[in-house]
Amino acid sequence: MERVLGIDLGTTNTCVAIVEDGVPTVIPNRGGYKTTPSMVAITEAGKRLVGHIAKRQAITNAENTVYAAKRLIGRKWTSPQVKNAVSTASYKIVEGPHGDVRIALRDKTYSVPEISAMILQEVKIFAEDYLNEPVTKAVVTVPAYFNDNQRQATKDAGQIAGLDVIRIINEPTAAALAYGFGKNIDKVIAVFDLGGGTFDISILEISSGGVFKVIATAGDTFLGGEDFDGRIIDWLVEGFREQHGVDLRQDRMALQRLKDAAEKAKCELSGVTETEINLPFIISSGRNDALHLQRQLTRQTLNSLCDDLIERCVEICRQTLEDARLDKDEIEEVILVGGMTRMPAVQDSVTKFFGRDACKGVHPDEVVGLGAAVQGAALVDESREMILLDVTPHALGIMTFGSKFEELIPKNTTVPTSRSKIFTTSRDNQTAVKILVMQGDSEKATENELLGEFILTGLRRAPKGQVEIEVNFEINSDGIVSVSAKDLETGQAQSIQVTASSGLTKDEVKNMMDNAKDFLVEARASDEFEGFKQEAEKFVVDIEKMFPQVEAVVASSDFGREAISKARSILEKTREAIEKRDAAAVKEQMEALSRTHRMFKGVVSRPH
Ligand code: AMP
Repeated sequence: MERVLGIDLGTTNTCVAIVEDGVPTVIPNRGGYKTTPSMVAITEAGKRLVGHIAKRQAITNAENTVYAAKRLIGRKWTSPQVKNAVSTASYKIVEGPHGDVRIALRDKTYSVPEISAMILQEVKIFAEDYLNEPVTKAVVTVPAYFNDNQRQATKDAGQIAGLDVIRIINEPTAAALAYGFGKNIDKVIAVFDLGGGTFDISILEISSGGVFKVIATAGDTFLGGEDFDGRIIDWLVEGFREQHGVDLRQDRMALQRLKDAAEKAKCELSGVTETEINLPFIISSGRNDALHLQRQLTRQTLNSLCDDLIERCVEICRQTLEDARLDKDEIEEVILVGGMTRMPAVQDSVTKFFGRDACKGVHPDEVVGLGAAVQGAALVDESREMILLDVTPHALGIMTFGSKFEELIPKNTTVPTSRSKIFTTSRDNQTAVKILVMQGDSEKATENELLGEFILTGLRRAPKGQVEIEVNFEINSDGIVSVSAKDLETGQAQSIQVTASSGLTKDEVKNMMDNAKDFLVEARASDEFEGFKQEAEKFVVDIEKMFPQVEAVVASSDFGREAISKARSILEKTREAIEKRDAAAVKEQMEALSRTHRMFKGVVSRPH
C-alpha cells in the first residue's frame, strides 16, 4: 500500500506524520526534532537553507530569511494583510506580475508557493530517509478559514515540491481526527487552534461509526502568535525611543533580534511570571557608541499588551457557537491546538468561556500532522472505516445587478456539494452575461473576495428577465470551487474551475466590477412570487375589463360608489406590490382580488 504523508504546513513550524502499523506517528527531522521551523533562507553563496538551520542564521541574514510565508500564500498584493507584512517583515516583499506577491531574496524573486514548496521538499526528503522509501503523496492541512485562492496556492506548493497533494484538509478537522482516532466515541467537540499566524475554531460531532462531521467553523487568518510578538516588539521599540530617541525599526537586523527576543520572552512567560529581555549592542546611536536594550517583562504586562487579541479569539468562538446553534454546555470536550495555546492567559480564557478545562491528552504541535496522516491512510486504504464531512467556511455566490451578492452555497455547508440557482437577464436584448464568482459573508458583493469570472455569450435576444440562466456551483472535497452557467433554452454553457493564478489587482477587480454591470444577471424572484404574480395579474386584467360595465350599473348608489373606489384601491395596491416584486404584499391582496372578481362577475352576469 502506498504511504501518504500527513503534513501540517504551519506558519511557524511544520510537522510531518505517517500511519505506521496502524499507529499515527510523527516523523522527526534530521536533528531529531518533531517540528521543523517553516523558514527558508538563501546564503551569500546562494545556498538554500530550510528549517532549523535557516532559523539559526536569521539574525545575521535577516533580509534573506523568510518566515511566516503562510501569511502571504494565495493573497493579492493589494490586500491589507500583505500591506501589513510589507511594513513589518525583515525580508523584502514585492509585487508580482499578476498583482500577486513575490519575495525577493538576493538576486531572485520567488512566488510564495515556491517558498512553501522548499519547506515541503525538505520534509519530503527527511521523511523518505526515515521511511527508507520514496513518497509522492501527501495530505496537507490548511486553516479552516483559508479561502479558495489560499487552498489552491497550497496545492501548487505541493506540486512544485514534487508531492501529489491528494487532499487538503482543515487543521481543526485534522486535530479532531487525531483525537478521535480509534476511540469509538460519540461526542461534540470544539477545536481551538491558535498558531503562529492564524486562529481557527471548529465545532465537530464525532460518532462511533467513524464519522467526523464539522458543524461550524470560523477563524481569522491574521490573528496568531506573531501578533502577540508584535505587541512585545511595539512595547520594546516605544520604550527604547523614549529612553534613547532612536527608532529601532529603521534597522532590519535590530528588528530581527527584537522579533526573536520577543517570541522567546513570550514563550518563557508561559512557564515563569517574569523574564528579562537583554539585547546588547542592539544599535549604534550614530555617535559611534553602541546602545543596549535591557528590560524586564512580567506575565501581567504581557497579558495586558495582548488581552484584546485573546478577546478576539473568544468573540469568534461565541459567534461560531451561535452559527452552530449550540450552547456552550453542549460542547463535551475542548481540544487545544497550536503553540500559542500554551500561554496561560489563552488557556484561562478558553476555560472561562467554555466552562471546562481543555483536554490534556493531545500534543498541540503534533495533533494536526497526525490527523493529516490518519486521513492520508484512510484515503488509500478502503478498509478503513472513516467518513469525514467538512464544511465550507465562507458563503459562495455571484455578483448580481446592483452589486448585490447572491449566495448559492451558504457558509458551513457540508462539502463536497453542488447547488444551482436560476437567474435572468437584467437588460432587454442582452446577449451575454458575465458571471463574477465571489466568496465571502457580506451582502455587498464588493466586500467579498472575487475568485474568478467568465462570460456566457450567445444568449437569444429577448426582453429583460426572459432569458433564464442556470448557475451551478460545485465544491470538491479539497474545498476547491468550480462554477458553470447555462442558458436554459439553448443549452449554451460555460464553466471555469476557479484558480488561484488569476492574481488580480484591486484596481483590476474594481474595473472588472464596474465594466461588468451591464453584463450581469438578475436574481430570479422566487417561484412563489412568480406564482402569485401570475394569478394576481389574471384577476387584475379580468376586473379591469369588467370595470366600465360594473361602474355603469352600480355608480348610482352610495354603496356602489364605495365598492368601486375600494376595487380601484385594491388594483392599485396589487400593481404596486407587483412592481416591487413583493411576494408577501401580492399575497395579501389575493383574497380581496378574488372577492372583487366574484362581485364584479356577479354584477356583469346579472340580467339588467
Ligand atoms: P504553531 O503555528 O502551532 O507552530 O504555533 C507557533 C506559535 O506558538 C508561535 O507564535 C510561538 O511563539 C508560539 N508558542 C510556542 N510555544 C509557546 C509557549 N510555550 N508559550 C507561548 N507561545 C508559544
